[in-house]
Amino acid sequence: MATRIVTTSCSYDCGGRCVLKVHVEDGVVRRIETDDGDEPQLRACLRGRANRQRVYAPDRLLYPMKRVGERGEGKFQRVSWDEALDSVARELLRVKDTYGPAAMFFYNASGALTAFHGMRRPFTRLFNMFGGYTSRWGIASYEGLAFACRYTYGTMTTGNSRDDLLNSRLIILWGMNPPDALMRTGTAHWLTRAKEAGIRIICVDPRYSEAAATFAQEWLPVRPGADAAVLVAMAYVMIKEGLHDQRFLDKYTVGFERFRDYVLGVDDGQPRTPGWAEAISGMPAASIAALAREYATAKPAALLPAWSPGRTAYGEQFHRVAITLAAMTGNIGIPGGNAAGHEGLPYGALSRTMPVGQNPLGQGVERAWEGLNAYSKVDREGPAVHVAKGFEAVLEGTKAGYPSDVKLLYLIAGNPLNQALNTNKGVAALKKLETVIVQEQFMTPTARFADILLPVNTFLERSDVGTPFLTGPYFIFMNQAIPSQGESKSDWQIACELAPRLGIANYAEKSEEEWLRYLTANNPSLPDYDAFRSMPAFKMNAPSHVAFREQVQDPVKNPFPTPSGKIEIYSQRIADMNNPMLPPIPEYVEAWESPADPLSTKYPLQLISTHSKHRANSVFSNVPWVTELEPHALWVSFQDAVARGIKDGDSVRVFNDRGEMRAPAKVTERIMPGVVHIPAGAWYAPDKDGIDRGGCVNVLTRDEMSPGGAFPDNTCLVQVERV
Ligand code: SF4
Repeated sequence: MATRIVTTSCSYDCGGRCVLKVHVEDGVVRRIETDDGDEPQLRACLRGRANRQRVYAPDRLLYPMKRVGERGEGKFQRVSWDEALDSVARELLRVKDTYGPAAMFFYNASGALTAFHGMRRPFTRLFNMFGGYTSRWGIASYEGLAFACRYTYGTMTTGNSRDDLLNSRLIILWGMNPPDALMRTGTAHWLTRAKEAGIRIICVDPRYSEAAATFAQEWLPVRPGADAAVLVAMAYVMIKEGLHDQRFLDKYTVGFERFRDYVLGVDDGQPRTPGWAEAISGMPAASIAALAREYATAKPAALLPAWSPGRTAYGEQFHRVAITLAAMTGNIGIPGGNAAGHEGLPYGALSRTMPVGQNPLGQGVERAWEGLNAYSKVDREGPAVHVAKGFEAVLEGTKAGYPSDVKLLYLIAGNPLNQALNTNKGVAALKKLETVIVQEQFMTPTARFADILLPVNTFLERSDVGTPFLTGPYFIFMNQAIPSQGESKSDWQIACELAPRLGIANYAEKSEEEWLRYLTANNPSLPDYDAFRSMPAFKMNAPSHVAFREQVQDPVKNPFPTPSGKIEIYSQRIADMNNPMLPPIPEYVEAWESPADPLSTKYPLQLISTHSKHRANSVFSNVPWVTELEPHALWVSFQDAVARGIKDGDSVRVFNDRGEMRAPAKVTERIMPGVVHIPAGAWYAPDKDGIDRGGCVNVLTRDEMSPGGAFPDNTCLVQVERV
């Protein structure tokens, strides 16, 4: 049997975007290889190469189904596509006519991140043509960072290309763990080369992460949510010892004096010394002072703040202080430095996207968070609910100040019961709705609550364009490798077939091929369409990039895109929000559910959850080739384990007032005392008493949003007991 090798790109929300070479025989995937061409390669991880088992999984959804049991019971009956789509259309029309379009909550998450089929555009277009909808706003991964970049730099394009790490004399990975959460394909490669070149690498993290173990010469543990306090105290040391770059601050920033007064305690008599930060963070004052001196003097130095420390209550402050320190050390706009921002690059995005139109409900709708989110603009043209508050919005509606009374949920590429905060509140919300429609590939915990379940094909069963995660110098044409399995269809095909049932003409104006030609045309970075689709990956010959190099070389000609034209350590726009929990200069703000919270006497452990190398959010939770590599377990320090009589491998209950889960304990020195950790994404599996046996962290998390929009899934107090 002849083997075809089809090139495509893995497309999950994992931090990477990698080449897959899919070996196909007689329409069946036999094996998957990856990029073995020129460096820098776009090499797939074990998840990408395990896609064969995912595509042919016995629990794959292959046919449309409708619910026959109680909602959430998971009992379904197969129906035809005509019956399923007629039912979906009937429900959409009923809810729209009865309650108005805002009663439809369209929720498209990040299960597929590709230029055409992914990124929510096909159904955004459909719902806009249908008359509007309620949506969510906020990027769970980094909304706090988006806030910080937008108000401090005026842009999210603040990254250096990874090769520039070799120009650094010091690299500080602050919560960053590229072996598990890639932060762009190839980051681990460049860190390896940096280490081989003798560049000093420090990891700041509550866990001795894979990155700390692999790359770092020094690991500095810090309590979750206390990162901003440590950074503020580092500023204190720099100011007191005259180590800060006053020339840079004078020339390129506004508001440093106010920040300095805050750090020194001029107004409130509380100097933010290393001793002050030690009490908050658990990091010894001497270590904080040493880190400050090293960062201030090892120029050029790259401070790389990851997203997880910002996924905390007031996490936006962590990112604003990190940027301020990058400015204080003069490490912005120079090779080997780093702006300590989002790390977006000015290349790697297509110049065209599918036009989606406007949400007709956008007119006249009050949007309290105008301007906070550069990337959620499409969602926020109509009524929108923050990503942390979706369940509460369903339960409470307009009487609690939410923009709509939601009656119908239309869910695509997402598993919010698992991935949004406060799963048990989510169960109540899903049960309250009149209608739940889900497009999925598997019977996820959320899909079990569907009334109508529409099977979606995988990226191996359709063509698309892969664009780099976090942007980057390449594009990958995603060639369809195999036919759609069973009766599954793409989200776009479903939209095309639904449109006429909703009375929408001309939705399907272009074929898939025509859309792909449209999206890739007019892009000077790309070769001709036919040449592009036949190459393994199109790697641009992009030069090494340093963010804000032009601004630093000639600030008059190239002002920063902020109102002042400078880096705004003090932001008048934030001051104008008049929110005491959003100070206009970067400050440490004590989180709810911190060790200082009275609740900590009842629930004394801080729970964090990070991305696992075994999953992309909740994707791959049901793929044995990936999950068998390491058991899902709760990390507990020796000290906390001994105090509770817990031994390695014991089953433990992890609980607070919001819920309880059971998991085996991994007793380890790789986590600081007072903190426990469980990888995010394991599937919620409640027993008859409502206790989660799957190890889903969100049965414990609090569904609150930070004032700047950060999604605080790493702010959570729990207790742990041996079962
Ligand atoms: S899961 Fe992510 S990192 Fe792994 S191969 Fe796919 S795109 Fe690359």
